[in-house]
Amino acid sequence: MLIVQKFGGSSVANAERVKNVAGRVADAYRAGHDVVVVVSAQGDTTDELIEKAAEVNPRASKRELDMLLTAGEQMSAALLAMALKAMGLPSVSLLGWQIGLKTDSNHGNARIKSIDTERLTFELSKRNIVILAGFQGVNKFEDITTLGRGGSDTTAVAVAAVLRADLCQIFTDVDGVYTADPRIVKGAKKLEEITYDEMLELATLGAQVLHNRSVEMAKKYNVDLEVCSSLERKPGTKVREVAGMEKMLIRGVARDNNVARVTIIGIPDVPGMAYKLFAVLSAAKINVDIILQSIGRDGSKDIVFTISADQKEEAMAALKRVEMIEKAKDVLVDTDVTKLSIVGAGMESHPGVASKMFEALFDQNINIQMIATSEIKISVLIDKKDSDRAVQAVHDIFFTD
Ligand code: ADP
Ligand code: ASP
Ligand code: MG
Repeated sequence: MLIVQKFGGSSVANAERVKNVAGRVADAYRAGHDVVVVVSAQGDTTDELIEKAAEVNPRASKRELDMLLTAGEQMSAALLAMALKAMGLPSVSLLGWQIGLKTDSNHGNARIKSIDTERLTFELSKRNIVILAGFQGVNKFEDITTLGRGGSDTTAVAVAAVLRADLCQIFTDVDGVYTADPRIVKGAKKLEEITYDEMLELATLGAQVLHNRSVEMAKKYNVDLEVCSSLERKPGTKVREVAGMEKMLIRGVARDNNVARVTIIGIPDVPGMAYKLFAVLSAAKINVDIILQSIGRDGSKDIVFTISADQKEEAMAALKRVEMIEKAKDVLVDTDVTKLSIVGAGMESHPGVASKMFEALFDQNINIQMIATSEIKISVLIDKKDSDRAVQAVHDIFFTD
């Protein structure tokens, strides 16, 4: 079998953990499998590197940030290769450019365009264990790019897809995907399996256990994906197409604290307003999430929408380019908000799911600022200070038997 194994930051945080990972990899290799390993930067290295950058330039360019951040994964890859060699196992560490991992030029959040399999298959044919630095690639100018926070998962799934691996295992500091973040929610339950679509929604809505783009890619290329513990040896959670799965009403609860709410008050109520606003945001590559528009009154209206909090400065700069924005009474940004969501393919056919969620929030006296729904999710925007209480209450109402 060809197996791709990915180990996250906490799984390779120190020498002891790196040796533990080497042991897990060695088991798979000795069992006769071809093994490609993708690693993240050790522990909080990526955050520390971001702080270092801010010390010398709080507005460092995204290009230079990518140059700096990718050093973290390079360290882990070399260390793991060394640990494997110390065990007498043949291994080689490689960076993104060495496997021709090409991306677009969107520094800090680049998308993978292609991967060359030549070097990878050559090393595997020599029975080498291939250790890849996750999270990184190069653009068409050979400049180094990164795939967005948590992006090593996407490296792993992409490599599994191009190599047509039999299995892609994501090893992390929890033993699977739970009905909510087990570090925050008491009584969160481990899921044996989850569909690609549900996992994609949960990941996009804030469950950082998998990078959302890795799930998107796993679905597209039908990669057999499993999330499991790097420390304990037990079955994890399988992410797959529907087959044979028990249809649960709600698969999980997620929350996202990295949200900003932008409110434009009293903008002229004329045709094309929404188009102009969202066109400049889209040109600036800002992803707009929930949108609300009030009914026009006395020739003006209010527009409210949410974006990722990281992009609030860019969003404000982009909005300034809309002529009519000067006519608005006020433009406000609030980051003291949380988006709380429930996800489940079963909710489509069951009435009353939304009201149950709202009841849980009402019982806690938590006010809902915005609501958005799709076939398989309901999201609400609430005050950040209520976030922990809200996620627990919503989880309790759906999962306490
Ligand atoms: P890694 O460094 O291995 O990539 P991450 O920190 O990115 O690990 O992801 C694992 C974390 O995801 C867990 O420690 C957990 O707190 C969090 N998490 C959030 N939602 C969930 C969920 N539904 N199930 C499991 N873990 C979750
Ligand atoms: N080291 C990167 C990050 O912290 C990528 C990853 O962990 O997947 O975001
Ligand atoms: Mg991660």
